[in-house]
Order: sequence, then structure tokens, then C-alpha cells
Amino acid sequence: MQVNWREITAAKNSFAALYAACETEGYALRPVKEPEGDVTCYSLNSINAPAFMEEIANAPCTTIVGGPHATACPMEMAAYADYVVVGEGEYTLPRLLRAIENRTPGPVPGVATREGLCPQDHAVFLPAYPPFSQFKGYIEISRGCPHGCAYCQTPNLFGRRMRHRPVDEIARAAAHFRDARFVTPNALAYGSDGIRPRPEKIEALFRALHRNEIYFGTFPSEVRPEFVTGEVLDLITTYCANRRLQFGAQSGSDRVLTMLRRGHTVADVEQALDLCRDAGLTPVVDFIVGLPCEEEEDERATLSLVHEVTRRGRAHVHLFTPLPGTPMAGMKARDLLPETQRDLGRLALAGKISGSWNDPERRFYRNR
Ligand code: SF4
Repeated sequence: MQVNWREITAAKNSFAALYAACETEGYALRPVKEPEGDVTCYSLNSINAPAFMEEIANAPCTTIVGGPHATACPMEMAAYADYVVVGEGEYTLPRLLRAIENRTPGPVPGVATREGLCPQDHAVFLPAYPPFSQFKGYIEISRGCPHGCAYCQTPNLFGRRMRHRPVDEIARAAAHFRDARFVTPNALAYGSDGIRPRPEKIEALFRALHRNEIYFGTFPSEVRPEFVTGEVLDLITTYCANRRLQFGAQSGSDRVLTMLRRGHTVADVEQALDLCRDAGLTPVVDFIVGLPCEEEEDERATLSLVHEVTRRGRAHVHLFTPLPGTPMAGMKARDLLPETQRDLGRLALAGKISGSWNDPERRFYRNR
């Protein structure tokens, strides 16, 4: 059975991981630019999904769709695709391919069809799967997040319990590269339950990667502000090559942070800024503007914090995007105050901020 993978830039890391998982089960996913062969697989996010609906519906082959959007809206996607993989795919996708090849009747756990959704019967044991094989990607060191930020699809996709890849397996994967870069919901939570940091686990990881240039706490392994302590910054400045640290503030208003269920305060962000300065690291701080739960005073507080950040480092600013499957699904972004638009424009021209506060598609939807 010829199984293809639809090339989509935003899904490169998913391809690397799923190629490796399917390969061990005897399926080699062939990258294609349009659906063909016996089966073509897609991984879609909620921004690029609409652009592929027609292609999937008219595909001349069996189609399988997974990824954050498929997990958030399985029955919507089942109207277009033959099969929808809900949640993580390392175990489910090969299992589904085997069922298709063997023409095994009956529902497959973790898969939706037009007939309905068969619930998942497992959680992926991360050490059981390599992060990549022939097609390389970033090394996924942790999966799952105990924080339920109201705008975020990650807990829906990967669950709220953190799972970690063992140090020796990370080192084995990192041996393919000079630079070691990682995927994780919070790099500073490595080895922990995602609530209480375990600096000794981070140091053990760094020691095992002594042959690499380590980039830790920069895209795509940003951190949470309350995990930033003097101790972990010492580790980063001792072992790592990056001289920046990227973390999420999202809002300058404690009222809004509570509504977003972020689990940290503005004071945590300010402390992280101070600690970065003391450690000689440049902070890069993420913000969301246009949040529907904001009042004007909250937006002004965020703008004030953006200014404070840009005096010490850089800010990464994005317009709120209502993602399906999250508590904020279906909500509409607020129009920004004129002063916010003006100041963000000036800071962008001065090279102090990046991002997209007018067009959320630019954030996720690059080159399809
Ligand atoms: S901490 Fe990050 S990954 Fe976890 S729910 Fe919040 S935004 Fe999502």
C-alpha cells in the first residue's frame, strides 16, 4: 500500500515524528505536493485547515487527517476526510494504516469517521518512539502541559500530564546535529510535573549534550515566566549557546491573566525580566493583544509592559486567534485602541517588536 504525506511547512516536525513511527511498522510515508497513491495523510492546524478542505474532499485516494485542528473538530473534518486521527498519532496512525490495508472492519480507537468517533485507548509513551529518523526535525523533549491556558490547543492535543524523553535518547538524537534545539511546551519544565521545576534534571540533560551547542529556552522551546529563577539561568549561561530567553507574558493585567488561566502574575514576568538582566540574557517576551476579555485599562497595562520589555529586550506580539477546541473558541478579537496601534507600529519600526497584530494567519499559515 502506497502511503503519502502531504507536504505542509507548518507540519514539518509532525512529519519527522510520524515518518519514524510509521517506518517501524513497515510504512514509508512519501512526501507529496498533492494527494495521490493509495492513502495521503495530512496534519493541519486551525489556520491552514480551510485551505485544504476542498483538496481533501476531492482527493483521488483515501485521506487521513490529524493535527491540532482535526483533534479540535473531528466530526467537522470527517465530513471531508475518510479518517480523522484525534490526538497524538504515533500509535494510532500505523494502527489505522494496518486496518485500512487489511480491510479490517470496525472502528479504530482514536479515529473519527462519518459514522462517529471511537475514543482513544492509549497515551503515547514518548521513549517508545524516536523523534525522527530519515527526515530530521527538532527534538521533542517533553509533551503535554498541566496548564490550561484558555486560548491554547496543546492540552487538548497532548493531554495535561507531562511526559519526557529520557536524557540518553535526547543525546542520541542530538548526535545528528551540531546545534541542539528542542520542542516542548516549557523547556524549564524538563523532567518535572510541569508545575514544580527540577533544575537537576535540566543540568543532567545539559551535561549529556556536551558535544552540542545547546539552544534552550528559545524558539521552539520557550518557557513560562514563573519557571525563570537565578539557578536555571546560571545553568543556561553555563551550558548553552543562546544569549536570549523567550517566555510568555501574554498580558500586563493580572485580571486578564486570571481569566486566561495562565497560572502566573505580572510580577512573575517582571521578576523574570530582572533575572534575565542580572544573568546577561536578553528577554524575548510573547504577548497576545485584542483579547476579548480585556477592558481598555487592561490593554493599556499590556502596552505599558510591552514598553518595559522593549527597554530591556524584545517583544513578540500577536493578535488573539480563537482556536477551536479551546475555552475561547468562537470569540472575536477586540479592536485595538489607536494608541496601541500607534505604539506597536513605532516599536516595530524601531526593530523592538515582531509578530502580527493585524493578521493572525501570518502567525501559522506560511507556505501552506
Ligand atoms: S503553558 Fe503554554 S502549552 Fe501550556 S496551556 Fe499554556 S500556552 Fe499552552
